[in-house]
Parts: sequence; structure tokens; C-alpha cells
Amino acid sequence: MKIRNITDYLEEIAPLYLQESYDNSGLIIGDLENTVDGCLITLDCTEEVVEEAINNNCNLIITHHPIIFNPLKKIVGNSYIERIIIKAIKNDIAIYAIHTNLDNVYNGVNRKIAEKLGLINCEILLPKNKLLKQLVVYCPASHSEALKEAMINNGAGSFSNYDNCSFSSLGQASFRPKKGSSPFVGNIGEIYNAEEVRLEFSLQKDIEGSLIEAMKDNHPYEQVAYQIYDLDNFSDDIGSGMIGNLASEVDSEEFLNLIKKQMNTACIRYTQLTNKKIKRVAICGGSGSFLLQEAKNRKADIFISSDFKYHEFFDADKKIIIADIGHFESEQFTKELIYDFLSKKFTKFAVQLSNVNTNPINYL
Ligand SMILES: [Zn+2]
Repeated sequence: MKIRNITDYLEEIAPLYLQESYDNSGLIIGDLENTVDGCLITLDCTEEVVEEAINNNCNLIITHHPIIFNPLKKIVGNSYIERIIIKAIKNDIAIYAIHTNLDNVYNGVNRKIAEKLGLINCEILLPKNKLLKQLVVYCPASHSEALKEAMINNGAGSFSNYDNCSFSSLGQASFRPKKGSSPFVGNIGEIYNAEEVRLEFSLQKDIEGSLIEAMKDNHPYEQVAYQIYDLDNFSDDIGSGMIGNLASEVDSEEFLNLIKKQMNTACIRYTQLTNKKIKRVAICGGSGSFLLQEAKNRKADIFISSDFKYHEFFDADKKIIIADIGHFESEQFTKELIYDFLSKKFTKFAVQLSNVNTNPINYL
């Protein structure tokens, strides 16, 4: 099996185009065409994790956090990042990151946290929009069915739980081929009236380039008239954070203790408890303070996340409880999530969970 077989499958679950613009998910070091002997899964790629991969004969490390996040100017071993890169390359170990693309899918990082806390009826807390585009193309009526089929075979009209979605309407087109053209129909210098079909498809924005190529390859005209534009539609199953309900409401202190136990945390930093019982729970693995307002808008009783700054805690404003459980703690089950994906799909292949505790923070 090649590294590509594993990463292609991960990208079916969490496509790379769903990563945030600041992110660096995907293959960071290595060659997708190399044979994979063993695969080690971790939340962070540290020097100890690379050492573990070498000892366990794993030539692929799958990490949640990308080891290269900011641009590097030198790789001479001055920082832990540089040393990891050197060590991985010397030992022919590939490093692949599945980061905010896994945060942004429904069955990703936050779903795993929701499962640990027993949340039901979960929804994405802040769904994303502008992931879809609309493509309009004009085609002679005689060729419209063939073009439509080719477009659909190349991924047009396929999104969420639907495929084969299209719209068509018949109309009159006119054009005049000028000198130097070689028109499919009509004569040079004469205005030609044609019966044309306006075909429309929605598409996921990641296939735009390949779809336009397929459209041009399958269209009879020398110059294809088409338009493409962004759609504002929100994708309910893609976005940041998650919100769900507890099966029955509980006392806030009792719920904090449950978080502590289920999320295996040494410490929770939390704001003043409200008098309300806890029923509706918003979560975000990793740094989630940007979602506080959305958690309040959607009437969450508590927002569980990490990396809140001092002044941000005031924004709870007695309307919600903020529970900061720590970045590592909130995402620690992400490696189990990746392990489950891979071990179910590749049953005869050695997928290993790293035993290194990569949390850089200690509590006294
Ligand atoms: Zn994180």
C-alpha cells in the first residue's frame, strides 16, 4: 500500500479544501508514492514521536497539528521544528497533518468530544458558507444532454446528500463569427441564430478547475460562454464547533465534574456559575474563543473550549458559563478518532496510536 491510499481516504472524510486559510494540512514531508510500512497517529509531532515512529517501523506519522505552520527560512536544527524535519527526512518518514479540515467536518474533532460528553441532537455551531459555486454554461440544444452527462460525471451537481442536480432552460442565442474563427456552426461574417440550452449546476468549490476543463473538452463550440459565481448557502454539516443537548438537565457543578472526568483534565478554568441547570452544551476542540458569541446566540448554557485569555472570560457576562479545559485536553481524543477511521478501513494494516504524551503544559 502507498501513502497515497491512506491520505486519499482521510481526504474523503476531511477534504483539504475545508481547511482554514491559515492552516497547513495535508502532506508536509515525504512522497505520496512511497510504500507505507506502518502508520503512527499523534496529536502533535514532537521529536519523541519521530523517535517512536523509527522504533516501531512506522514511515508515516499522521498528526492533527501541522509541524510546519509558519514559513521557515532555514533548516539547520536550531529549533525543535527544524530538528523534527531533519530527523524525519533522514529516516524517510512522511508527516501528514489533518487539522482544521478535521475540525470542520461533522464527524470530526468536535463530534468526538460530543460523544465523550453524551451530547445528543448535535449540530455544527457555526456552519460555513461560500463552499458552493454555481456554473452556468450555454450549449447548442443538440449537444446539451451529452454535455450535461459529462459535467455530472466530473462532479457537477453533487453536494451534501444529493447528486445529479442540474437545471436547464431552452432559449435563443445569436453570434457572428469574425475573421480568423472556425465556428462549429454558422458562417464567418454572418449573424447566426441558434437554439441553445442554458445548463446550470452547483458544485463544490474544490472541483472548479477540473470541471471547467471537462466542460471545455466536452463542448462543441470553439469559445464556450459560461459564468461561475459564489453561492451564499450555508453548509449545515461543515463548520466550526458543535452544539447539542444533554439527555437530561444537570446541576452546573455536577456537569463540571463530569467534564473533568470524561475529558481527563487536571484543571478547568471556568466563569461564574449561573443559576440555571445545564442542558444545552456548545463545544469547540482547540482554541474556540471566537465562537463564544455564537454559543450565546444559540442559547448554550455552557461553552467548553480552550485558550481563553483573561479578558475574554468577562464576555461570559453571566449569560453562559465558559469552561476552558486546555487545548491538549480538548483534542486528546482526536488521535482515537483518526485511528478508528483507518483501522476500520484498512483492517490488515498496522495503524498505531502514539504513546507519547505531547502536552507541553504541566499543572502543579
Ligand atoms: Zn488544536
